[in-house]
Amino acid sequence: MEAVKCSLCGQNVEDNNHLFLHCSVTTKIWSMCFEWWGFSIAIAGSCWDSFIQHESLATKSSERLGWIIVWFSLVLTI
Ligand SMILES: [Zn+2]
Repeated sequence: MEAVKCSLCGQNVEDNNHLFLHCSVTTKIWSMCFEWWGFSIAIAGSCWDSFIQHESLATKSSERLGWIIVWFSLVLTI
């Protein structure tokens, strides 16, 4: 059985980490968002690490839910 190519770039095997984080198309989206939010951080290696990284952007506990919602919104949009 042949591996499924990424539906966004058509170059790499489409797995969760590639599609949601490391695809050339997706990387541009994350990079633009991080720049927009004023963060200069590398994109995490896995979806779980990305979620934890995103959650840790909150500087106050009251911001935590907001960052979680943003992460899910971005991933669902992708
Ligand atoms: Zn891709």
